[in-house]
Amino acid sequence: MNYEEKRKQLVESLKERGILTQEKVINAMLKVPREQFLPENVQDSAYVDTPLLIGSEQTISAPHMNAMMCEILNLKKGDKVLEVGTGSGYHASLCAEIVAANNSKTSGHIYTIERHEDLAEKARENMRRTGYDKYITVIVGDGTLGYPQEAPYDKILVTAASPMPIPPPLKQQLKEGGILCIPAGSRRYTQNLYKITRKGDQFKKDKITGVRFVSLIGKYGFDDS
Ligand code: SAM
Repeated sequence: MNYEEKRKQLVESLKERGILTQEKVINAMLKVPREQFLPENVQDSAYVDTPLLIGSEQTISAPHMNAMMCEILNLKKGDKVLEVGTGSGYHASLCAEIVAANNSKTSGHIYTIERHEDLAEKARENMRRTGYDKYITVIVGDGTLGYPQEAPYDKILVTAASPMPIPPPLKQQLKEGGILCIPAGSRRYTQNLYKITRKGDQFKKDKITGVRFVSLIGKYGFDDS
């Protein structure tokens, strides 16, 4: 079976499991080639629903988690999105496919921050190869500080586990009505995925499900040990 067929099969199974429901997310998952964001030695597992190692002891999340987080954010064409934790660049490209690709009338864009320079460079290469680089800016730095240069954002996606409290700069850089999707909790054990919606100076916090992510390291994250 070729990659495209495997991709379709994975999307069907995520639909059957009730994880994929939004047409725009389904279309993006059918379009973005996950295998192109993976190191060669794990490309065969691109459409197994599992996290995979991508170097620097980091992982690309399992596809069901990418799908779930995109649906929580309710991404729309034209959204300005901040992602913390670029990793392979796959999730940023999924977001770009929804908010920006193939639509010259909207100015949707993804800003994504990665603390490991080598991963950021590989992600840039992956995005160039797949054509998503036009819609994505990769920044090397500490994403717990957000990226104030382009704030405020319609949506913020954090793909590493934060301690509590959630990094204040990320909440501050959210637009009125904006959504932040973030895993948070203890470093090695239980974490929960949260959807945080801004209403003026109030932040409504919905707990979605238990999760397990690599740690968010930085000023408002965990320390580097
Ligand atoms: N979204 C990625 C993808 O599609 O491949 C997967 C991200 S991986 C689960 C989490 C990433 O967050 C790692 O690459 C890690 O280096 C990065 N990270 C951790 N703390 C960070 C921080 N403070 N700022 C930026 N990136 C950070």
